[in-house]
Amino acid sequence: MRVLISGASIAGPTLAYWLHRAGFEVTVVERTASLRTGDGGQAVDLLGPAVEVVERMGLGAQVRRHRTTTDVMTLVRPGRGDVSIHGAELLAGVSDRHVEILRGDLARVLHAATAEDVEYRFAKTITAIEDTAVTFSDGAREHFDLVVGADGLHSGVRRLIFGDERGYRHFLGAYLAVYSLPDFLGLDGRVLSYNTVDRAVALYPTKRPGQARAVFLIRNPELDYDHRDAAAQRALLRTLAGGLGWEVPTLLTHLDAAGDFYFDSISQIRLGSYSRGRVTLAGDAGYGPGPAVGGGSSLALVGAYVLAAELAAAGGEHTVAFPAYEAAMATPIAASRRIGPAVLATLIPRGPAQVWTMAQALRVLPHLPLPLRRRLTSFGGGPAAMLDGVDLRPFPGTARLQQRVPGA
Ligand SMILES: Cc1cc2nc3c(=O)[nH]c(=O)nc-3n(C[C@H](O)[C@H](O)[C@H](O)COP(=O)(O)OP(=O)(O)OC[C@H]3O[C@@H](n4cnc5c(N)ncnc54)[C@H](O)[C@@H]3O)c2cc1C
Repeated sequence: MRVLISGASIAGPTLAYWLHRAGFEVTVVERTASLRTGDGGQAVDLLGPAVEVVERMGLGAQVRRHRTTTDVMTLVRPGRGDVSIHGAELLAGVSDRHVEILRGDLARVLHAATAEDVEYRFAKTITAIEDTAVTFSDGAREHFDLVVGADGLHSGVRRLIFGDERGYRHFLGAYLAVYSLPDFLGLDGRVLSYNTVDRAVALYPTKRPGQARAVFLIRNPELDYDHRDAAAQRALLRTLAGGLGWEVPTLLTHLDAAGDFYFDSISQIRLGSYSRGRVTLAGDAGYGPGPAVGGGSSLALVGAYVLAAELAAAGGEHTVAFPAYEAAMATPIAASRRIGPAVLATLIPRGPAQVWTMAQALRVLPHLPLPLRRRLTSFGGGPAAMLDGVDLRPFPGTARLQQRVPGA
């Protein structure tokens, strides 16, 4: 059976790995001209069952080799004395099984594990899907038994099948901006965080010597802007972050020179069902819990594994596998949707009192007993608990695959 996957980041290559292992013939199309690894991109968290998925792929050691850590996190309070906490103390609240890795490094490991067995086609997108017939951006037309959109928050496959995202994108009330800049403060392993009313700004070192990355979280009503116009988004960030203290004016002077500027709303994808006919979605495309706030990478890895397992068990019969996949993912997806609002409420102060409380909480945190520390820093159970209920069954032996559809 031929399966076409759109998107070569986390969900796509993971799904490709397991489907190939189950005997499917897999093709992956990716919009970018090559793997989007750059200097690694943002750090993402793999928790519990997501770590188990990469272990089962035999990639645990490789993934751990790329793990990143935070030495010290400092809450900067101009004029009032900074508060610092060791990364290990902060992360004690996350999970016993947790790996932080740059998204680009993870994508590279997953791609390398599949590149020999799966056909990757870069600089290509899907422009139409009619039952088994798929049309690509270069005009070519081919038949596939199944199509999976693993193409992220603004999925093209999803738009083709479920229409414009305005119908099912749920805005969480904040914006995220990220870009790289020279490490003008000599961070040396430190993460600096400046939290003020309705704004949170962080600065952390990247793996590239002399480089840092700035992250802005901005609480604001929903804005109307052109998603393809980076200049307009830079201007928006200048307006939204204008007037902030600390080093923010200097951070903004580096905005125009940043080649990797990212600006997006923090929104969740909330579709009732994310499968229709022979098409389904995996990862952020189907159930993105919000960038940077909700453990989307773990959900993407686990979702891809569960989908492949259900397809293998059902011999590729999508009418059986897709509902089983959605049923298995329902609880973690529902849990993931509670994390974003809790994280934003914690990280972006609503008033001066919360700015003060945050500093006091960080001060006492290292002195609290571990269970209490864990409760306070896990955002109400949060990212780690989201996957607690997931039963990662052993990958099933493949039932005999269905015949290919005519033309496929
Ligand atoms: C700034 C930032 C910080 C984040 N921090 C965290 C974190 O700390 N922890 C965490 O767990 N998660 C975090 N995330 C979220 C995490 O990156 C995503 O949840 C995760 O990458 C989802 O993986 P995915 O494979 O579903 O989609 P993506 O990683 O978004 O990949 C989608 C892929 O599809 C490709 N694509 C897009 N459109 C098309 C198209 N039309 N046709 C073909 N290909 C297409 C893209 O180029 C990309 O390669 C963060 C995200 C951002 C942006």
